[in-house]
Amino acid sequence: MPPAHADDVFLNGVRVAYLAQADDIALISKSRTDGLQAKLDAFNTWCRRNGMAVNALKSFLMIFGPLPDVPPVVAIAGERIQLVSSTVYVGVTMTSTTPHIYADHRAYKANVARRIANVTLAMEGYIGSVPPRYGRLLYLARIDPHLTYGCEADVDVHPSSLHPLETVQLTYLRRVLMLSSRSPLVILYTMLNIWPLRYRRLQLAVRYLAYLAQSDAPAFPKAAMHTAVHLARAGHPSWWSDLKLAFNALPVPVHMDIDIPPSTHLAAHLQNALRESLRQYVLQGIAVPRLELYRSILVTPLGLAPSLAKLFASHVFLTLAKLQRKCLTRLLVCEHPFAAHRRRFLHDGTPPAWWICRFCRDVRCVEDEGHVLFECVNDDLIKARTRAFRDMLTIHPPLEYILPKRTDVWDLVRFFARHPRLLARFADFVHMTFKMCDEVPMIIITSQNDLAELGPRP
Ligand SMILES: [Zn+2]
Repeated sequence: MPPAHADDVFLNGVRVAYLAQADDIALISKSRTDGLQAKLDAFNTWCRRNGMAVNALKSFLMIFGPLPDVPPVVAIAGERIQLVSSTVYVGVTMTSTTPHIYADHRAYKANVARRIANVTLAMEGYIGSVPPRYGRLLYLARIDPHLTYGCEADVDVHPSSLHPLETVQLTYLRRVLMLSSRSPLVILYTMLNIWPLRYRRLQLAVRYLAYLAQSDAPAFPKAAMHTAVHLARAGHPSWWSDLKLAFNALPVPVHMDIDIPPSTHLAAHLQNALRESLRQYVLQGIAVPRLELYRSILVTPLGLAPSLAKLFASHVFLTLAKLQRKCLTRLLVCEHPFAAHRRRFLHDGTPPAWWICRFCRDVRCVEDEGHVLFECVNDDLIKARTRAFRDMLTIHPPLEYILPKRTDVWDLVRFFARHPRLLARFADFVHMTFKMCDEVPMIIITSQNDLAELGPRP
């Protein structure tokens, strides 16, 4: 322990002269020369007495706050220490010349996570398709630690500052599910049972709060927490006020009262509020018209007020073979090749009544999922549909009694969703309809004249 000095830093009455994690040591002082130099000298003496030497080339000086006109000179063992604006302590890059001291840390971690994500996904070229279950495990083991490193201290106050890290998460999840960059965000999280990064990072920060609120928590971080609380209550920015802002910045904001003292009870309350906010975010996210099928097949069976655990539960269709799950995923999130999806994104102002089915060319038929899969009278579709249902009856003979009772076709698909072999055969049928879309051009109608000129039903 270096000798006490008048310029030592105190947090909630606790003197914090230095931080030490194995050989990663930070000496701290409020003065630019005297206080810090005294600590360096004491540290050098202690090292020599214990048979160690300090490498001045690997030691750095950082100044937080306004920089002096003349750089201060501090040295260890007679060698001057270089003044830097950014350095790493315990794996966290801190910068003294930007308003956000963790800005470089986030940029660095985003690069590392992106590289690992790319390598993980490139693995498929050598070992074949990675099922979502393993894609999820690889994410949690290899990518999530980088995206959340230091999030307990580096709280997400500004939504934009999280963007580089969020981009890595979203790109990876989309690749695992084989969806496009236009896919709805919320289903990426629910399908793979992975929390949105903003929620995940805040969850870890609140867990850290619960840890610090315990009576036997380490002295320094506990003192730092209480100092942050005092600062926030006095109207100054601090970790405590950042937590409040982070809760407020959630897609479904949560109010955190900074006047309530930190405790394990408060941490538990905040965790529950965070989970409820996430549940509401998911319910709002899947309420869009585009996810009608997803809601109908996967959410409706969960009841009127599904729990968070049920919303994030794994789905049978993600255990199917690559092509089968790819087709079903795209069907569920409306990324299929049918006109109903394609025309929605053309934004050409045409009404759905003009999205005529390319297969039957009947002006009364809109080419959407229900029509193509279950209603269209095109000969090739009828044959494929008949074959599919015949096969499914062979796979599951009781289907013969179930079919007449299911008047809603999507209710039937909900039934398939509980039987992997039926679902696999249905997925093959869906795949065939997708292939037919590649072979038959879509009918483009942009005016009433186009509609009138469309030939009579063949
Ligand atoms: Zn048709």
